[in-house]
Amino acid sequence: MTRQVQPGGKTVSRYRIVIKGVVQGVGFRPFVYNLAQVWGVKGSVLNSSRGVVIEAEAEENNVAGFLSELKNNPPQLSRISDYQLSKMPPAGYTSFVILASDPGDEKEALVPPDVAICADCAKEIIDRKDRHYQYPFTNCTNCGPRFTIINEIPYDRPKTSMASFSMCDQCAREYHDPADRRFHAQPTACPVCGPHVEVLDSAGRNVAGKENWLETCWNILQDGKILALKGLGGYHLACDAKNKEAVKALRRRKGRDAKPFAVMCRDLETVQKYCVAGEKEIELLISPLAPIIILRKHLQTRLNEGLPEELAPGLKTLGVMLPYTPLHLLLFSGPLDMLVMTSGNYSNLPLVKDNSRAAGELGGIADYFLQHNREIVNRCDDSLIQVVDGEPHIYRRSRGYVPHPVLVPRGEDEPVILGIGGEMKNNFCLLKKNQAFMSQYIGEIDSLEGEENLLTSFFNLRKLTDAIPEVVAYDAHPGYASARVARQIPARAYFEVQHHHAHLASCLAENGLGNEEVIGAILDGTGYGTDGNLWGFEILTGNYDDFQRRFHLAYVPLPGGEAAIRQPWRTAVAYLLAFLGEEGKRSAGLIFPEKNLDVIERMVAGGFNSPLSSGCGRLFDAVSALLGICRENTYEGQAAVELGEAIQETAGNDDMQTYPYETREGIIWPGQMLAAIIDDKMAGVPVQSISARFHRTLVSMVGEAVERVSGATGIKKVALSGGTWQNQYLFRTAKQYFSARGFEVLYHRQVPANDGGIALGQAMIAHWRWRKRCV
Ligand SMILES: [Zn+2]
Ligand SMILES: [Zn+2]
Repeated sequence: MTRQVQPGGKTVSRYRIVIKGVVQGVGFRPFVYNLAQVWGVKGSVLNSSRGVVIEAEAEENNVAGFLSELKNNPPQLSRISDYQLSKMPPAGYTSFVILASDPGDEKEALVPPDVAICADCAKEIIDRKDRHYQYPFTNCTNCGPRFTIINEIPYDRPKTSMASFSMCDQCAREYHDPADRRFHAQPTACPVCGPHVEVLDSAGRNVAGKENWLETCWNILQDGKILALKGLGGYHLACDAKNKEAVKALRRRKGRDAKPFAVMCRDLETVQKYCVAGEKEIELLISPLAPIIILRKHLQTRLNEGLPEELAPGLKTLGVMLPYTPLHLLLFSGPLDMLVMTSGNYSNLPLVKDNSRAAGELGGIADYFLQHNREIVNRCDDSLIQVVDGEPHIYRRSRGYVPHPVLVPRGEDEPVILGIGGEMKNNFCLLKKNQAFMSQYIGEIDSLEGEENLLTSFFNLRKLTDAIPEVVAYDAHPGYASARVARQIPARAYFEVQHHHAHLASCLAENGLGNEEVIGAILDGTGYGTDGNLWGFEILTGNYDDFQRRFHLAYVPLPGGEAAIRQPWRTAVAYLLAFLGEEGKRSAGLIFPEKNLDVIERMVAGGFNSPLSSGCGRLFDAVSALLGICRENTYEGQAAVELGEAIQETAGNDDMQTYPYETREGIIWPGQMLAAIIDDKMAGVPVQSISARFHRTLVSMVGEAVERVSGATGIKKVALSGGTWQNQYLFRTAKQYFSARGFEVLYHRQVPANDGGIALGQAMIAHWRWRKRCV
């Protein structure tokens, strides 16, 4: 019925195909156009609010080939979430055309994330005969800036920071040619018409321009100087990663004692010279997402030229990424093969993104500035991933991922909800239908600049996702700036969400669970509890609606509050005094002879400026300090990270033992464990073994509590959430423990287990509470 005999005597069929997902700004329409040429298909393609709509008419065999290619080999960057095919009566099309789309129709289309430079563009910039030779802003429909340059939707050049550059004839020709790789590549540019770089010294004097910037930068870096370079989502501070003095200077000037620096390597070969990279890690490194991957360093490098310890002091790992813009690739086309590439900011302030602020904010750190005149609209840090048992776990979800939504179980007709996130490692979440738009990494917001960054980023993402929240959720901590920011945003309802409940809900949501009750083992540093104390080692039961606290680690007073979090030795002393009495006091005197313990004792005894904490991070701090691994935290979680790193891969049988502890009346008491750890230390047991036993004891504590709750409730699903689970040894051991006992283990992959994930949980909890209120 739907066949028609063509003039040539052949019968044709016509189909309408509607494709949803990420299909805009990823070269989808030129791909469809070219495919239609190959298969002799007539018809059209257009972007609409329903997605990409294709009309395809040809002989049945040809349409079948066309459709199969479309489904099985779509453009690398596209993500097809839905594909609908309907047969239509033939229309007698005579050509295949790309139809202009109605801008109003594209509001639903998703803004694509930034994409690392593709192989074709990478070839052009090193080809002397190509017009893009050595041009640092080369891009095409398969690669280049997206999210970071978009002001408004629909995604079209005038709505981006490329609006001020008008295309030259040749660029315009490519842009309008459906067969060209740059067809509708919004940021397309060349040396004639596009943005340019310049190099400035710290006094703001121009020292090089587009002709000689590259050689100048090589000289600067080879001289051991620090270069602030404007990248895709903000400035990086760069120096030669193999130059110990340069790395030390960067640490000193940036006010960053020990927090590991990320590095960028020339190529995969260089990465592998210094680090161990498995299959999944390599796949991610070279992917268009180009995140930082945490890799284990080789114990000895093949060339026996060790990297400076100062890159990542005390750690066996290194955060590594590959060049992801043409500018980076060109930087590596010279004498350098590894550069420190750390965020261009001072201490905890937001990443610098504007030329006008670079000199002011980075002037005390950088010797030179490599900058350009393409504006960064949306600030976006590098993403950070660690591969655990072959699965990527995201620790910072930002460039390359944002604003791709995370899909969650939720209906079409629900209101938009904002979860504002936490106070550290902040990002926020806009929940629209079943899409959770997690913002880029916002970072610490305990400064005016941080608050401003949060608010501006919120307004921008709201615009790009067309998601105007009706309901707002925030952390229940009374002192959080994030909560203050949240309450400024107009909404119909506001919900306060307990920190660890948000962790639990975030884990449920990313694993696609409905409003189902599970057991949560939530381990982290600090979150405000419903009793006003600082929680962080919590065995809960709960769903999105509500939760119950079933077990927790015994409270310890933190002498000096924040000061104790910065100085783990204080927490160690508090633990000894609180749980081991006189014996503990004697041990503290032996272990910390140089410290004034009387002050700590008085604070602990009198409860003066000593908030109570059940945080797992604090227990790590205490053990780390007792073992002499880390007595001062110069970055969040340092003591815990270094204690985790102390475990040797080849743990012996002794390390499989656990220390004694007690669990009664819903409280886990670590006193006996601490006494045993001190005994082991005094007896000269290697720190590696003590650390392994400590980790296994934690798993046993969590495991026993979870099993008791499971015995009482019959629940066999356990969610592991909270930043402590980024400890690989702990995570793996716990996962094995629960799997071996018949539990289904839920954990984070797409959303951070740390506080970068709580915004999603807040939004999901607010969704369920709002529903309840509305019925
Ligand atoms: Zn390209
Ligand atoms: Zn041009």
